[in-house]
Amino acid sequence: MINASIENMIDFFCDKRNRSTWHKLRIANFPRFVKYPTSQVSGWGLTSCLQIGYIEYMADLMEKIVSLCKRRGFVFPSSEIYGGIGGFWDFGPLGVELKNNIKSWWWQTMVQIREEVVGLDSTIIHNPKVWQASGHTLSFTDPLRECKSCHQRFRADQLKGEKCPECGGKLTEVKQFNLMFETFIGSAKETANKAYLRPETCQGIFVNFANVVDTIQPKLPFGIAQIGKGFRNEITLGNFIFRDREFEMMELEYFVKPGEDEKWFDYWLKERLNWYLDLGISKKNLRFFEHPKKALAHYSKRTVDIEYQFPFGWAELEGMANRTDFDLKNHAKSSGKDLRFQDEKGEKLYPYVIEPSVGVERIALALLTEGYREEKDKKETRVVLALNPKIAPVKVAVFPLLPNKPALVKKAREIYDDLKNCFNVAWDDRGNIGKRYYSQDETGTPFCITVDFETLEDKKVTVRDRDSMKQERIAIDKLKEFFQTKLA
Ligand code: ATP
Repeated sequence: MINASIENMIDFFCDKRNRSTWHKLRIANFPRFVKYPTSQVSGWGLTSCLQIGYIEYMADLMEKIVSLCKRRGFVFPSSEIYGGIGGFWDFGPLGVELKNNIKSWWWQTMVQIREEVVGLDSTIIHNPKVWQASGHTLSFTDPLRECKSCHQRFRADQLKGEKCPECGGKLTEVKQFNLMFETFIGSAKETANKAYLRPETCQGIFVNFANVVDTIQPKLPFGIAQIGKGFRNEITLGNFIFRDREFEMMELEYFVKPGEDEKWFDYWLKERLNWYLDLGISKKNLRFFEHPKKALAHYSKRTVDIEYQFPFGWAELEGMANRTDFDLKNHAKSSGKDLRFQDEKGEKLYPYVIEPSVGVERIALALLTEGYREEKDKKETRVVLALNPKIAPVKVAVFPLLPNKPALVKKAREIYDDLKNCFNVAWDDRGNIGKRYYSQDETGTPFCITVDFETLEDKKVTVRDRDSMKQERIAIDKLKEFFQTKLA
């Protein structure tokens, strides 16, 4: 799973934020190497030792992120008091803010600022004929093998060898397992009433194509975007929120003239890469993966994944597919409705579709991974979640220096009440100021305000920056303007 190439490792160790952690880790890991016979260790060379250190660092990082998410209210296992339920996660007070910020940034940049893109909110359950026409009832499958001894199930394409990786037992032959969750509409559980929870949001867009075209009368190219829940009965889980059975998707179907599809595919690939760079994800942690022609999905002419270097290795963050005219043509055939687009010359055609598609949870995990850092000083370790301020769950935290001084509390409350009309603001009056700063750093709050005795005299507060830890005095009546600029 881990792709710890020497280039990645060199980049990684040269990155300033990792240097001190790595140094400590090397020392901590030294006894591990000595556990192995000397002849073996000396034969390993620097690369192997670096690789072990790197893999252990990444495993450790994942553990730290999971623990931070639980401890600080980002992510909880769903139905935890009943032992949880595999592949389902709940998002806590900070997690819901993080997800909402990701979704609204995507919506702003992908829909609202683009004249040619509009939004849609379709249902999760469609007429089951939709899934027949789209090919999902037949082809939305993963290859599955089951262990005849322990009955664990595995994705056949992820297995190495012919034995069960858990108990060494014999495996069944490969069978195709449909990932769609079934449900029943109405009071009778009969085949005629069977429906599916959508595994992707885009079919809701295709079946509304004519409705949207009739209402907005667009010119090609134009897009229809949707954010909503998707459900997949995944065979293998793991890696925290990376692969879920219920997740949120953000999808754009961009309709273009046939023949211009390749140009627009390249355009969207570039746009989406830049979107991640703008959010603060570093270039070295992103790469493209071109799907081989032979392995393309049934609807795709070309698929490229934008991969991120997660703590467990490189994996798909977002998929970009050239869906051609497959979906519109099939829905037209199946429904008997004319879903062709009439262009300016009065010619009717099926547009091609370029689709950037991504899960909110995967972006959240990438941002948590990218932002997590530990800074050690003489006394303590400062954990910082260096999230882009646009995405940070809380923008500003307000503290009265002392919680038992009514004048300070009153002034701090006034500021808090005023700012909360504009930003998501937190209040904290527990413990000393240093602890409060560290607590906000760990959840990614970009700014903290402290109201002290001087504030009562000069009507200024101390504003402390999460990343530089620099403090400056700002006049209370200039605070909104200050944050509006900093958080833009
Ligand atoms: P994978 O190969 O990781 O299973 P996929 O190729 O099946 O993913 P797509 O069908 O391209 O995924 O889905 C588009 C996007 O939706 C993915 O890039 C990912 O961000 C997200 N996604 C897909 N499946 C899941 C899942 N089970 N949990 C969370 N996000 C998912």
